[in-house]
Formats: sequence, C-alpha cells, structure tokens
Amino acid sequence: MTTLYAGMGELVTNDPGQGDGSPLGVVADGAVVVEGDRVAWVGLREHAPDADDRVDLGGASVIPGFVDSHAHLVFAGERSAEFAARMSGQPYAAGGIATTVAATRAADDETLDHGLERLAAELCRGGVTTFETKSGYGLTVADEARALRLARAFTEETTFLGAHVVPREYRDDRDGYVDLVVGPMLEACAPLARWVDVFCDRGAFDVDEARTILQAGMAAGLVPRLHAGQLEEGAGIQLAVELGAASVDHCTHASDEDVEALASAAATTVATLLPGAEFSTRATWPDARRFLDAGATVALATDCNPGSSFTSSMSFCIAVAVRDMYFTPAQALWSATAGGAAALRRDDVGTLAVGRRADFVVLDAPSYVHLAYRPGVPLVRDVVAAGTPISRKPRVVARRTDTFPSGKFPEEPR
Ligand SMILES: [Zn+2]
Repeated sequence: MTTLYAGMGELVTNDPGQGDGSPLGVVADGAVVVEGDRVAWVGLREHAPDADDRVDLGGASVIPGFVDSHAHLVFAGERSAEFAARMSGQPYAAGGIATTVAATRAADDETLDHGLERLAAELCRGGVTTFETKSGYGLTVADEARALRLARAFTEETTFLGAHVVPREYRDDRDGYVDLVVGPMLEACAPLARWVDVFCDRGAFDVDEARTILQAGMAAGLVPRLHAGQLEEGAGIQLAVELGAASVDHCTHASDEDVEALASAAATTVATLLPGAEFSTRATWPDARRFLDAGATVALATDCNPGSSFTSSMSFCIAVAVRDMYFTPAQALWSATAGGAAALRRDDVGTLAVGRRADFVVLDAPSYVHLAYRPGVPLVRDVVAAGTPISRKPRVVARRTDTFPSGKFPEEPR
C-alpha cells in the first residue's frame, strides 16, 4: 500500500540533495510517497511514481515532523502561581522543582500516566513526531523508576535525571544523595532509560558531581546528555564535550571557549537551545549566531516542564528563536527537526528521505517561514507519524441514539 502526497506549496526535506540545495532541501511543487511507515520516494511532483492512493494537499506546505529532544513530561500538579509571581518581579531559582517533586511523589500512577498522555497528545497535535522525556521529579529509587516505566509507554527516548536537584531530605548530605543516584537509583533506572542527564548549574549539581554521575551512567550503558549554562557560566558545557555527550542543553550562558569546544571538529555534542525557558523565566537570550557561525550543531527543543517552560509548542519555540535568539527562519526549522534528531543521535527521523520514517507535518501556510512570521497561530493542519495520518480535530462523542430506541436522548456527559 503506497500513498502519494502532492499539491504542496513547498516541501522541506532537510536533504541538501533535494530542491534548492540548501540545508533545508526545499522543493517547490514537491511530492512524497509513503509505504507503510517509511518514505518510499521524495522529489518533484512531475517525476513522482504511481501510488495506490493519492492525497492532494491543496497548496499547503510540508515539513519533517518536529523532533523535541528535551522535555520533562512525567509530573503532577502545576506551578502557575510561581509563574505569576515571577512575572510580578520575583527571580527564578532551581528550588521550585521541589514543589513538583512533592506533588509527583504523592500522585498515583494513573494521575501521572494521564498527565503524560495529555502532554504527548499536545506535542503530537503541535507537529512533534519524536520526543524525549526525563525522570527527575521523583528523586527516590522507586519514584524515578516509576517515571521512566510510565514514560516508556510513550517514547523510546527516556532519560534518567535522578540528578535534577538534591531533594530536601538530603539537603545536609549531598554526597549521600550522589551515592544514591549512582548506586541503587541508577541500577533500578538504567534498564528503563537510554540516556543519563544531570542538571549542572547553580542550585543543582556542580561539575564534579555531574562528572561522577554521568560516568556512572555511562558505565551502566547509558549515553550522557547534560543541562548546563542555564543560570550561569560554568564548566558543564566543556564537560559535556569531553564526555562525548549527545547534547548539552540550555547554553544560555556560554563562554567563547565553550562555543569553540562545541564547534571543534572532534566534538560530537549538539548545543540544544531552549527558548521556552528564557521566555518563561524572563532570562537573557543566548545569541544563536555565536554557535551557528562557529559551526556547532544546534537543536531547538521545548524543555516542556511545569516550572520554567510549560510549552509543548515547537512552533512557538521557532518563532521566539527567530525573533529573540537570531536564528534565521531556515536555521530554526532545521534545528527543530534535523537538529533535534542529531541531539538524540537518530538517523531515521528529522529528514524526509527514502527509507526514513514517514513523519511529516502539513502546515496551513504556503511556506515554513510562516511558523515564525505568524507567531501563536495554529498552523499545523495535519500530522503524519510513521506513515499514519493523525487528525488534529478534537474527538466528538457521537450520540448513541441507537441504544435508545424510545427516542429519548441520553444525558449529556458531564
Ligand atoms: Zn530540562
């Protein structure tokens, strides 16, 4: 069974061998053939092969599905009051995480699963077809393992973040907590995770603690990634590069040496920028041109979490990244798709090419530029994930009049 998608205003492939030869590989009047969950053909409409089925997109543009390489989706509660206080003048500190930790520990599995399902659906409606999510709001052996177990039902990109903050009960025994993380917690979590992560910043973990935890995770078979440079400059970015981390995330504060390290030929670490965090904490914007001009690989992700960036919208992140972080619209889209795939070391997603997973987004716009040009507008019309179209229309509960032969309508569900 093959399906030909045609009638596109603009097709972004992220394959420089296509169309205009730019990094986005933009094809005017392009077409895609999907077979099963894979891309079977991409190119100019006039050269497209026959297919069993045909979908005319009526001039809409098509982009690869977004790859959100950084999110924290397993938690209970919300922190809008903290956000309101911050927007009224109070500064952001890493300690707010404790509020979510308390709510998450107190929640039952069903509550956490429901929240995760809601956010996963929200991401998908916004065009995200691959996402990563972390533990980090449990901070006990059982609660961290539970978070990862629940997350694995939604994504294979799960990250053990037992080192998010030092929980209150270990406030006077940091070393004891690090021992717990690299000992029984890692042992319980490593089989449930692909990645190990540490929040290496002021108020969280220092670079020596981060090194200890990441190396322990690597010894247990996990691949490192790191939160660094969100609140202040430090040695975290260089540590990430040194350990060959897949990604170092935030990079709001980075020295010239940090940028140089990320851009060096030997570096395998992606710099992931998280505009939602700067937006929601009213922080200074990093200038993406420093990283891009130096030649570093840059990703954009939502950092979706209840404290410092409660957005699941990659479109929003692109708009802000273009406006305030000086990405060009093309760089921002690449970073939100192919860049995210690089940050997750995935070569099956982020690009529309033969053999890759058929993940793409149909935009109600003639060009991808509209993602930044029309901020806040829901341009995602349709999402195709692994070859399957996912309608973004809300579900409508059908009136089951057939079960009421007397003609009496059932009571409206409340
Ligand atoms: Zn984060």
